[in-house]
Amino acid sequence: MTEKTAVGRDAFDRVILPVYSPAKFIPVKGKGSRVWDQQGTEYVDFAGGIAVTALGHCHPALVKALHEQGETLWHVSNVFTNEPALRLAQKLIDATFADRVFFANSGAEANEAAFKLARYYASAKHSPYKSKIIAFHNAFHGRTLFTVSVGGQPKYSDGFGPKPADIVHVPFNCLDAVKAVIDDHTCAIVVEPIQGEGGVTPATQEFLQGLRDLCDEHKALLVFDEVQSGMGRSGKLFSYMHYGVTPDILSTAKALGGGFPVSAMITTEEVASVMAPGKHGTTYGGNPLACAVAEAALDIINSPEVLAGIEERRTAFIQALEAINEKYHVFKEFRGQGLLIGAEMSEKYKNRAGELLTAAAEFGLMILVAGPNVVRLAPSLVIDFADISEGMARFEKAAQKLVG
Ligand SMILES: *Cc1c(COP(=O)(O)O)cnc(C)c1O
Repeated sequence: MTEKTAVGRDAFDRVILPVYSPAKFIPVKGKGSRVWDQQGTEYVDFAGGIAVTALGHCHPALVKALHEQGETLWHVSNVFTNEPALRLAQKLIDATFADRVFFANSGAEANEAAFKLARYYASAKHSPYKSKIIAFHNAFHGRTLFTVSVGGQPKYSDGFGPKPADIVHVPFNCLDAVKAVIDDHTCAIVVEPIQGEGGVTPATQEFLQGLRDLCDEHKALLVFDEVQSGMGRSGKLFSYMHYGVTPDILSTAKALGGGFPVSAMITTEEVASVMAPGKHGTTYGGNPLACAVAEAALDIINSPEVLAGIEERRTAFIQALEAINEKYHVFKEFRGQGLLIGAEMSEKYKNRAGELLTAAAEFGLMILVAGPNVVRLAPSLVIDFADISEGMARFEKAAQKLVG
Protein backbone atom coordinates (compact mmCIF):
# COMPACT_ATOMS: atom_id res chain seq x y z
CA MET A 1 0.00 0.00 0.00
CA THR A 2 1.11 3.54 -0.76
CA GLU A 3 1.54 5.39 2.48
CA LYS A 4 -0.37 8.67 2.53
CA THR A 5 1.63 11.49 4.11
CA ALA A 6 -0.17 14.54 5.47
CA VAL A 7 -0.35 17.41 2.97
CA GLY A 8 -1.61 20.97 3.44
CA ARG A 9 -2.37 23.95 1.22
CA ASP A 10 1.17 25.30 1.82
CA ALA A 11 2.53 22.37 -0.23
CA PHE A 12 0.80 23.77 -3.32
CA ASP A 13 3.09 26.78 -3.29
CA ARG A 14 6.15 24.49 -3.16
CA VAL A 15 5.34 21.63 -5.52
CA ILE A 16 2.81 22.72 -8.17
CA LEU A 17 3.69 24.80 -11.24
CA PRO A 18 2.39 28.22 -10.26
CA VAL A 19 -0.27 28.55 -12.98
CA TYR A 20 -3.24 28.50 -10.57
CA SER A 21 -4.12 30.25 -7.34
CA PRO A 22 -6.50 27.79 -5.64
CA ALA A 23 -8.63 28.55 -2.59
CA LYS A 24 -7.03 28.37 0.82
CA PHE A 25 -8.86 25.17 1.76
CA ILE A 26 -8.49 21.67 0.30
CA PRO A 27 -11.67 19.75 -0.57
CA VAL A 28 -11.37 16.09 0.40
CA LYS A 29 -14.84 14.65 -0.07
CA GLY A 30 -18.01 15.31 -2.06
CA LYS A 31 -21.52 13.93 -2.20
CA GLY A 32 -24.21 15.37 -4.45
CA SER A 33 -23.90 19.14 -4.23
CA ARG A 34 -22.03 19.21 -0.91
CA VAL A 35 -18.25 19.18 -0.44
CA TRP A 36 -16.13 18.90 2.73
CA ASP A 37 -12.60 20.21 3.26
CA GLN A 38 -9.70 18.89 5.36
CA GLN A 39 -11.08 20.60 8.47
CA GLY A 40 -14.51 19.07 7.96
CA THR A 41 -16.06 22.38 6.90
CA GLU A 42 -18.98 21.77 4.55
CA TYR A 43 -19.63 23.72 1.34
CA VAL A 44 -22.58 23.94 -1.05
CA ASP A 45 -21.25 23.51 -4.57
CA PHE A 46 -22.55 25.95 -7.18
CA ALA A 47 -19.29 25.64 -9.18
CA GLY A 48 -19.53 22.02 -10.30
CA GLY A 49 -15.79 21.78 -10.90
CA ILE A 50 -16.29 24.39 -13.67
CA ALA A 51 -19.33 22.82 -15.34
CA VAL A 52 -17.89 19.31 -15.05
CA THR A 53 -19.66 17.47 -12.22
CA ALA A 54 -23.06 17.78 -13.90
CA LEU A 55 -24.51 14.99 -11.78
CA GLY A 56 -22.93 16.18 -8.55
CA HIS A 57 -20.18 14.42 -6.68
CA CYS A 58 -19.92 10.63 -6.53
CA HIS A 59 -23.23 9.97 -8.28
CA PRO A 60 -24.05 6.29 -7.52
CA ALA A 61 -24.52 5.34 -11.20
CA LEU A 62 -21.15 6.85 -12.16
CA VAL A 63 -19.41 5.25 -9.19
CA LYS A 64 -20.93 1.92 -10.21
CA ALA A 65 -19.79 2.28 -13.84
CA LEU A 66 -16.29 3.26 -12.70
CA HIS A 67 -16.12 0.40 -10.24
CA GLU A 68 -17.39 -2.23 -12.69
CA GLN A 69 -15.18 -1.12 -15.56
CA GLY A 70 -12.29 -0.69 -13.11
CA GLU A 71 -12.45 -4.37 -12.35
CA THR A 72 -12.87 -5.35 -16.02
CA LEU A 73 -10.55 -3.44 -18.38
CA TRP A 74 -8.90 -0.05 -18.02
CA HIS A 75 -6.90 0.55 -21.13
CA VAL A 76 -5.95 -1.14 -24.38
CA SER A 77 -4.83 1.80 -26.64
CA ASN A 78 -6.22 2.44 -30.10
CA VAL A 79 -4.35 -0.53 -31.51
CA PHE A 80 -7.55 -2.25 -30.33
CA THR A 81 -11.05 -0.87 -30.07
CA ASN A 82 -13.24 -1.49 -27.02
CA GLU A 83 -16.89 -1.93 -26.12
CA PRO A 84 -17.46 1.14 -23.91
CA ALA A 85 -16.06 3.48 -26.61
CA LEU A 86 -18.23 1.92 -29.33
CA ARG A 87 -21.35 2.11 -27.16
CA LEU A 88 -20.71 5.72 -26.16
CA ALA A 89 -19.98 6.76 -29.75
CA GLN A 90 -23.24 5.20 -30.96
CA LYS A 91 -25.21 7.01 -28.23
CA LEU A 92 -23.64 10.36 -29.09
CA ILE A 93 -24.48 9.78 -32.76
CA ASP A 94 -28.08 8.78 -31.95
CA ALA A 95 -28.52 11.90 -29.81
CA THR A 96 -27.04 14.48 -32.23
CA PHE A 97 -26.46 15.56 -35.84
CA ALA A 98 -23.23 13.56 -35.99
CA ASP A 99 -22.21 10.33 -37.74
CA ARG A 100 -18.63 10.00 -36.49
CA VAL A 101 -16.85 10.44 -33.15
CA PHE A 102 -13.24 11.03 -32.15
CA PHE A 103 -12.46 10.59 -28.46
CA ALA A 104 -9.82 12.53 -26.57
CA ASN A 105 -9.17 13.50 -22.96
CA SER A 106 -9.79 17.21 -22.56
CA GLY A 107 -11.65 20.07 -24.15
CA ALA A 108 -8.48 21.46 -25.67
CA GLU A 109 -7.71 18.14 -27.34
CA ALA A 110 -11.22 17.80 -28.76
CA ASN A 111 -10.87 21.33 -30.18
CA GLU A 112 -7.37 20.65 -31.45
CA ALA A 113 -8.82 17.70 -33.36
CA ALA A 114 -11.71 19.85 -34.60
CA PHE A 115 -9.45 22.63 -35.90
CA LYS A 116 -7.02 20.18 -37.51
CA LEU A 117 -9.93 18.38 -39.15
CA ALA A 118 -11.39 21.64 -40.49
CA ARG A 119 -8.03 22.61 -41.99
CA TYR A 120 -7.46 19.15 -43.40
CA TYR A 121 -10.92 18.94 -44.92
CA ALA A 122 -10.47 22.28 -46.70
CA SER A 123 -7.06 21.28 -47.91
CA ALA A 124 -8.21 17.87 -49.18
CA LYS A 125 -11.50 19.03 -50.72
CA HIS A 126 -10.70 22.54 -51.91
CA SER A 127 -7.22 24.03 -51.69
CA PRO A 128 -4.21 24.01 -49.33
CA TYR A 129 -4.61 27.81 -49.19
CA LYS A 130 -8.09 27.54 -47.69
CA SER A 131 -6.82 27.74 -44.12
CA LYS A 132 -8.28 30.89 -42.52
CA ILE A 133 -10.05 30.32 -39.22
CA ILE A 134 -12.45 32.98 -37.99
CA ALA A 135 -12.89 33.11 -34.21
CA PHE A 136 -14.14 35.62 -31.64
CA HIS A 137 -12.92 38.08 -29.06
CA ASN A 138 -13.10 36.65 -25.53
CA ALA A 139 -13.58 33.11 -26.86
CA PHE A 140 -11.99 30.29 -24.92
CA HIS A 141 -11.02 27.02 -26.59
CA GLY A 142 -8.32 25.53 -24.37
CA ARG A 143 -4.60 25.88 -23.72
CA THR A 144 -2.69 23.98 -26.39
CA LEU A 145 -0.85 26.42 -28.63
CA PHE A 146 -3.38 26.05 -31.49
CA THR A 147 -6.49 26.24 -29.30
CA VAL A 148 -5.20 29.12 -27.21
CA SER A 149 -4.38 30.98 -30.44
CA VAL A 150 -7.90 30.44 -31.78
CA GLY A 151 -9.14 31.65 -28.38
CA GLY A 152 -9.80 35.36 -28.25
CA GLN A 153 -7.77 36.45 -25.23
CA PRO A 154 -4.23 37.32 -26.39
CA LYS A 155 -2.99 37.50 -22.79
CA TYR A 156 -3.27 33.69 -22.71
CA SER A 157 -1.29 33.14 -25.93
CA ASP A 158 1.31 35.93 -25.84
CA GLY A 159 4.89 35.03 -24.96
CA PHE A 160 4.83 31.43 -26.12
CA GLY A 161 6.60 32.03 -29.39
CA PRO A 162 5.20 32.16 -32.92
CA LYS A 163 1.49 31.43 -33.03
CA PRO A 164 -0.24 29.28 -35.64
CA ALA A 165 -1.01 31.59 -38.57
CA ASP A 166 -4.17 32.54 -40.46
CA ILE A 167 -6.49 32.97 -37.47
CA VAL A 168 -8.66 36.11 -37.44
CA HIS A 169 -10.60 37.40 -34.42
CA VAL A 170 -13.70 39.57 -34.64
CA PRO A 171 -16.31 40.71 -32.09
CA PHE A 172 -18.77 38.07 -30.84
CA ASN A 173 -22.41 38.49 -31.87
CA CYS A 174 -21.42 40.86 -34.68
CA LEU A 175 -22.29 39.35 -38.04
CA ASP A 176 -21.07 42.36 -40.02
CA ALA A 177 -17.57 41.88 -38.62
CA VAL A 178 -17.60 38.27 -39.83
CA LYS A 179 -18.87 39.33 -43.26
CA ALA A 180 -15.96 41.75 -43.49
CA VAL A 181 -13.31 39.05 -43.06
CA ILE A 182 -14.82 35.86 -44.47
CA ASP A 183 -13.73 34.81 -47.96
CA ASP A 184 -13.25 31.66 -50.03
CA HIS A 185 -9.95 31.01 -48.24
CA THR A 186 -11.83 30.55 -44.97
CA CYS A 187 -11.91 26.93 -43.81
CA ALA A 188 -13.89 27.37 -40.58
CA ILE A 189 -15.73 29.61 -38.18
CA VAL A 190 -15.21 28.48 -34.58
CA VAL A 191 -17.69 29.64 -31.95
CA GLU A 192 -19.06 28.84 -28.50
CA PRO A 193 -22.88 29.06 -28.70
CA ILE A 194 -22.61 30.47 -25.17
CA GLN A 195 -19.26 32.06 -24.38
CA GLY A 196 -18.36 30.57 -21.00
CA GLU A 197 -14.99 31.77 -19.68
CA GLY A 198 -15.49 34.97 -21.67
CA GLY A 199 -18.41 36.08 -19.49
CA VAL A 200 -21.39 33.72 -19.93
CA THR A 201 -22.73 35.41 -23.07
CA PRO A 202 -25.16 33.49 -25.30
CA ALA A 203 -24.96 33.96 -29.06
CA THR A 204 -28.03 35.54 -30.59
CA GLN A 205 -30.23 33.53 -32.92
CA GLU A 206 -29.45 35.81 -35.89
CA PHE A 207 -25.74 35.52 -35.21
CA LEU A 208 -25.56 31.71 -35.20
CA GLN A 209 -27.91 31.41 -38.16
CA GLY A 210 -25.88 34.08 -39.98
CA LEU A 211 -22.66 32.16 -39.32
CA ARG A 212 -24.26 29.01 -40.73
CA ASP A 213 -25.32 30.85 -43.88
CA LEU A 214 -21.90 32.47 -44.36
CA CYS A 215 -20.18 29.10 -43.94
CA ASP A 216 -22.45 27.55 -46.56
CA GLU A 217 -21.85 30.44 -48.93
CA HIS A 218 -18.05 30.16 -48.64
CA LYS A 219 -17.78 26.37 -48.28
CA ALA A 220 -16.38 26.75 -44.78
CA LEU A 221 -17.15 24.49 -41.82
CA LEU A 222 -19.04 25.68 -38.77
CA VAL A 223 -17.42 24.44 -35.56
CA PHE A 224 -19.29 24.70 -32.27
CA ASP A 225 -17.22 24.48 -29.12
CA GLU A 226 -19.74 23.03 -26.67
CA VAL A 227 -17.13 21.95 -24.14
CA GLN A 228 -18.87 24.10 -21.52
CA SER A 229 -22.37 24.60 -22.94
CA GLY A 230 -22.93 20.94 -23.82
CA MET A 231 -24.09 17.82 -22.00
CA GLY A 232 -27.30 19.30 -20.67
CA ARG A 233 -25.80 22.51 -19.25
CA SER A 234 -28.06 24.71 -21.39
CA GLY A 235 -31.24 22.73 -20.68
CA LYS A 236 -30.96 20.66 -23.85
CA LEU A 237 -28.31 18.03 -24.49
CA PHE A 238 -26.36 20.53 -26.60
CA SER A 239 -26.89 24.24 -26.84
CA TYR A 240 -27.15 24.18 -30.65
CA MET A 241 -30.49 22.39 -30.20
CA HIS A 242 -32.01 25.60 -28.78
CA TYR A 243 -31.04 27.50 -31.90
CA GLY A 244 -31.86 24.89 -34.51
CA VAL A 245 -28.52 25.73 -36.13
CA THR A 246 -26.46 22.63 -36.84
CA PRO A 247 -22.65 22.71 -36.95
CA ASP A 248 -20.39 20.53 -39.06
CA ILE A 249 -18.13 19.75 -36.13
CA LEU A 250 -18.85 19.94 -32.39
CA SER A 251 -16.58 19.45 -29.40
CA THR A 252 -17.74 18.23 -26.01
CA ALA A 253 -15.78 17.62 -22.81
CA LYS A 254 -16.23 18.97 -19.26
CA ALA A 255 -19.49 17.27 -18.18
CA LEU A 256 -19.13 14.40 -20.66
CA GLY A 257 -17.46 12.23 -18.04
CA GLY A 258 -19.10 13.90 -15.05
CA GLY A 259 -15.60 14.43 -13.60
CA PHE A 260 -13.70 11.65 -15.29
CA PRO A 261 -11.41 13.15 -17.96
CA VAL A 262 -12.83 12.45 -21.41
CA SER A 263 -13.78 14.52 -24.46
CA ALA A 264 -15.14 13.99 -27.93
CA MET A 265 -15.18 15.70 -31.29
CA ILE A 266 -18.21 14.72 -33.32
CA THR A 267 -18.81 15.38 -36.99
CA THR A 268 -20.65 14.34 -40.14
CA GLU A 269 -19.80 11.44 -42.45
CA GLU A 270 -18.90 13.94 -45.19
CA VAL A 271 -16.32 15.79 -43.09
CA ALA A 272 -15.00 12.61 -41.47
CA SER A 273 -14.44 11.05 -44.89
CA VAL A 274 -11.15 12.92 -45.46
CA MET A 275 -9.51 11.18 -42.49
CA ALA A 276 -7.53 7.95 -42.71
CA PRO A 277 -5.56 5.79 -40.28
CA GLY A 278 -2.54 7.66 -38.94
CA LYS A 279 -3.83 11.20 -39.65
CA HIS A 280 -4.60 11.97 -36.02
CA GLY A 281 -4.68 10.15 -32.71
CA THR A 282 -4.06 10.03 -28.97
CA THR A 283 -3.00 7.23 -26.64
CA TYR A 284 -5.80 7.56 -24.08
CA GLY A 285 -8.62 8.67 -26.40
CA GLY A 286 -11.59 6.33 -26.07
CA ASN A 287 -10.10 4.62 -23.02
CA PRO A 288 -12.63 2.02 -21.73
CA LEU A 289 -12.62 3.37 -18.18
CA ALA A 290 -13.41 6.93 -19.33
CA CYS A 291 -16.01 5.83 -21.86
CA ALA A 292 -17.82 3.55 -19.39
CA VAL A 293 -18.24 6.47 -16.98
CA ALA A 294 -19.26 8.85 -19.78
CA GLU A 295 -21.84 6.38 -21.07
CA ALA A 296 -23.43 6.28 -17.62
CA ALA A 297 -23.35 10.10 -17.45
CA LEU A 298 -24.91 10.48 -20.90
CA ASP A 299 -27.68 7.98 -20.11
CA ILE A 300 -28.72 10.03 -17.08
CA ILE A 301 -28.23 13.53 -18.48
CA ASN A 302 -30.01 12.77 -21.76
CA SER A 303 -33.17 11.63 -20.01
CA PRO A 304 -36.41 13.64 -20.14
CA GLU A 305 -36.55 13.93 -16.32
CA VAL A 306 -33.08 15.42 -15.94
CA LEU A 307 -33.40 17.76 -18.93
CA ALA A 308 -36.85 18.92 -17.80
CA GLY A 309 -35.54 19.67 -14.30
CA ILE A 310 -32.91 22.11 -15.52
CA GLU A 311 -35.22 25.00 -16.41
CA GLU A 312 -37.03 24.65 -13.05
CA ARG A 313 -33.73 24.87 -11.25
CA ARG A 314 -32.63 27.85 -13.32
CA THR A 315 -35.81 29.63 -12.27
CA ALA A 316 -35.06 28.89 -8.60
CA PHE A 317 -31.52 30.26 -9.00
CA ILE A 318 -32.58 33.41 -10.85
CA GLN A 319 -35.39 34.16 -8.37
CA ALA A 320 -33.01 33.81 -5.44
CA LEU A 321 -30.38 35.97 -7.14
CA GLU A 322 -32.97 38.64 -7.92
CA ALA A 323 -34.14 38.67 -4.31
CA ILE A 324 -30.56 39.10 -3.08
CA ASN A 325 -29.96 41.81 -5.65
CA GLU A 326 -33.02 43.77 -4.56
CA LYS A 327 -31.37 44.14 -1.17
CA TYR A 328 -27.75 44.64 -2.15
CA HIS A 329 -27.67 45.89 -5.78
CA VAL A 330 -24.41 44.13 -6.57
CA PHE A 331 -25.47 42.89 -10.02
CA LYS A 332 -26.42 44.61 -13.24
CA GLU A 333 -27.93 41.62 -15.06
CA PHE A 334 -28.32 37.84 -15.09
CA ARG A 335 -27.71 35.88 -18.26
CA GLY A 336 -26.80 32.49 -19.69
CA GLN A 337 -28.85 29.43 -20.47
CA GLY A 338 -30.08 26.58 -18.30
CA LEU A 339 -27.68 26.03 -15.41
CA LEU A 340 -24.88 28.12 -16.85
CA ILE A 341 -25.66 31.37 -15.10
CA GLY A 342 -23.74 34.62 -15.38
CA ALA A 343 -24.30 37.57 -13.04
CA GLU A 344 -22.60 40.75 -14.22
CA MET A 345 -21.48 43.10 -11.44
CA SER A 346 -23.20 46.47 -11.18
CA GLU A 347 -21.31 49.69 -11.90
CA LYS A 348 -20.67 50.27 -8.19
CA TYR A 349 -19.05 46.85 -7.71
CA LYS A 350 -17.38 46.69 -11.12
CA ASN A 351 -14.62 44.04 -11.46
CA ARG A 352 -15.15 42.77 -7.91
CA ALA A 353 -16.55 39.32 -8.78
CA GLY A 354 -13.43 37.71 -7.28
CA GLU A 355 -14.12 39.29 -3.89
CA LEU A 356 -17.60 37.81 -3.93
CA LEU A 357 -16.13 34.38 -4.71
CA THR A 358 -13.74 34.63 -1.76
CA ALA A 359 -16.50 35.82 0.57
CA ALA A 360 -18.77 32.99 -0.59
CA ALA A 361 -16.10 30.43 0.31
CA GLU A 362 -15.88 31.94 3.82
CA PHE A 363 -19.60 31.28 4.26
CA GLY A 364 -19.41 27.74 2.87
CA LEU A 365 -20.31 28.22 -0.79
CA MET A 366 -18.36 27.39 -3.94
CA ILE A 367 -19.00 29.70 -6.91
CA LEU A 368 -17.03 30.72 -10.01
CA VAL A 369 -16.18 33.85 -11.89
CA ALA A 370 -15.94 34.40 -15.66
CA GLY A 371 -13.47 37.26 -15.86
CA PRO A 372 -13.24 40.00 -13.21
CA ASN A 373 -16.77 41.32 -13.71
CA VAL A 374 -19.02 38.27 -13.89
CA VAL A 375 -19.99 35.74 -11.21
CA ARG A 376 -20.63 32.35 -12.84
CA LEU A 377 -22.66 29.45 -11.48
CA ALA A 378 -22.46 25.98 -13.04
CA PRO A 379 -24.03 23.69 -10.45
CA SER A 380 -25.04 20.07 -10.75
CA LEU A 381 -27.96 19.62 -13.17
CA VAL A 382 -29.69 17.51 -10.53
CA ILE A 383 -28.97 19.75 -7.53
CA ASP A 384 -31.61 19.41 -4.79
CA PHE A 385 -33.84 22.44 -4.32
CA ALA A 386 -32.88 22.38 -0.64
CA ASP A 387 -29.23 22.77 -1.65
CA ILE A 388 -30.16 25.73 -3.88
CA SER A 389 -31.92 27.43 -0.91
CA GLU A 390 -29.08 26.74 1.51
CA GLY A 391 -26.45 27.85 -1.01
CA MET A 392 -28.38 31.04 -1.74
CA ALA A 393 -28.65 31.83 1.99
CA ARG A 394 -24.85 31.64 2.06
CA PHE A 395 -24.62 33.68 -1.16
CA GLU A 396 -26.64 36.42 0.52
CA LYS A 397 -24.15 36.59 3.39
CA ALA A 398 -21.34 36.94 0.84
CA ALA A 399 -23.20 39.78 -0.94
CA GLN A 400 -23.80 41.46 2.43
CA LYS A 401 -20.08 41.22 3.21
CA LEU A 402 -19.13 42.72 -0.17
CA VAL A 403 -21.48 45.65 0.37
CA GLY A 404 -20.02 46.06 3.89
C1 LIG B 1 -13.01 24.50 -20.51
C2 LIG B 1 -13.14 24.82 -21.96
C3 LIG B 1 -12.21 24.36 -22.90
C4 LIG B 1 -10.94 23.65 -22.52
O1 LIG B 1 -11.17 22.41 -21.93
P1 LIG B 1 -9.98 21.67 -21.16
O2 LIG B 1 -10.57 20.38 -20.73
O3 LIG B 1 -9.57 22.58 -20.05
O4 LIG B 1 -8.87 21.51 -22.14
C5 LIG B 1 -12.45 24.61 -24.24
N1 LIG B 1 -13.54 25.29 -24.63
C6 LIG B 1 -14.45 25.74 -23.76
C7 LIG B 1 -15.67 26.45 -24.26
C8 LIG B 1 -14.28 25.55 -22.39
O5 LIG B 1 -15.17 26.03 -21.52
